[in-house]
Amino acid sequence: MTLHLYDTLTRSKQPVRTPEPGKPITLYLCGPTVYGRAHIGNARGPVVFDVLYRLLQHLHGADNVRYARNITDIDDKIMAKAVAENRTPQAVAREFEQYYQDDMAALGCLSPDFEPRATDHIEGSYGMIAMIAALVDRGVAYAAEGHVLFEVAKFESYGKLSRRPMDEMIAGARVEVAPYKREAGDFVLWKPSRDDQPGWESPWGRGRPGWHIECSAMIRGVLESETIDIHGGGIDLQFPHHENERAQSCAAHAGAELSRIWMHNGFLQMGETKMSKSLGNIVTPRELLDAGWQGEVIRLALLSAHYRQPLMWTDALLEQSKSIVERLYGKLERGQANTLDRVSHALMDDLNTPDAVAALPDSAAMLGLLQRSPDEVFRSGGDSAWIEDRISANRVARANKDWATADQIRDELLAAGITLSIAKDGTTSWRRA
Ligand code: AMP
Ligand code: ZN
Repeated sequence: MTLHLYDTLTRSKQPVRTPEPGKPITLYLCGPTVYGRAHIGNARGPVVFDVLYRLLQHLHGADNVRYARNITDIDDKIMAKAVAENRTPQAVAREFEQYYQDDMAALGCLSPDFEPRATDHIEGSYGMIAMIAALVDRGVAYAAEGHVLFEVAKFESYGKLSRRPMDEMIAGARVEVAPYKREAGDFVLWKPSRDDQPGWESPWGRGRPGWHIECSAMIRGVLESETIDIHGGGIDLQFPHHENERAQSCAAHAGAELSRIWMHNGFLQMGETKMSKSLGNIVTPRELLDAGWQGEVIRLALLSAHYRQPLMWTDALLEQSKSIVERLYGKLERGQANTLDRVSHALMDDLNTPDAVAALPDSAAMLGLLQRSPDEVFRSGGDSAWIEDRISANRVARANKDWATADQIRDELLAAGITLSIAKDGTTSWRRA
């Protein structure tokens, strides 16, 4: 059985290669621009990629997998927030980077092998400035008025990833028209910075990078190859972000493809619309955690639909996930287990997490679920000495056939959220509701 993943470039399921000595499987997920807290939609990609990461580690061993998830810490939105709050852009970026890492960890995501910051990859031999200079040398990029632009007409297969015809892209309303551009579809690799803005010295003057070049440089810098195995992000990143990343990297690396497989997750939706900061319909993992939803429950909810399908986010989904998690811990405690085969089978076919979840609790490790002990889930917190005392009083009452007292103690415990189960032989166990 070979792991197959749906690849956006070829529009087909493709096998993931087997790693060779010294050639680990490499994964890159476009990470957050750190100027605000991640919403639960932003967490879908990282959670899906975390399952993929765990699966690959399970298949090939941790030494044969390298996973990078970047931090975009230089961006106009970060700068605008810093100005509004009279702070430095770096202070804003570091604050939200920490929140992001905490939130993803709370949802059970392992730390990636690399979490490169864009600002650490501007200079240096595989940095953004060097890559932009290579693109200018190759004649696919041009400098104009302190900017450097990628000339899309010079890259033959521009549009192949997102399957958009060139004229549509060039005329695209979302693409900014500017006097220094040869064509409206040309995109910014470098732009000038004013003295009061963050900037780096470059052959084109003091400035800062555009968004797309950041990922191309970080991929080359930390994963140390021109062609990686799997590149991911939300479906909205297909165009322009990934189309542009691919164009830059291919053009700078003599045509080498940037990624063997392009993976895109569908949107998490509130009703009919995408959850998005600009629409104001967001829920953050922090809010859910503060409201008492466990990270594991949120994670299961995120994995309840196949990653390429839309996921409708509702309170009912969370309630349902909560009861599944509890049922699974119950099974774990009773030592009931399914066969691992069914789980691997489901995940090997384009990460079918809904099917894998149906085979829980055995898939627990690969899905990053059921990481606590049933004891902790059902019995942690509160005054366990008092609980044990009440249970033994209940036992004594039952032994004396004092059913009224036994029932009263049971109700007392129930009011404190403790359920007693009494087996036929009188053995008593308890758990939190
Ligand atoms: P943004 O902050 O909009 O740049 O998004 C960061 C990442 O989250 C990108 O990979 C987006 O594709 C992804 N994303 C944003 N909104 C959603 C959503 N509602 N559902 C799933 N992924 C999303
Ligand atoms: Zn990217």
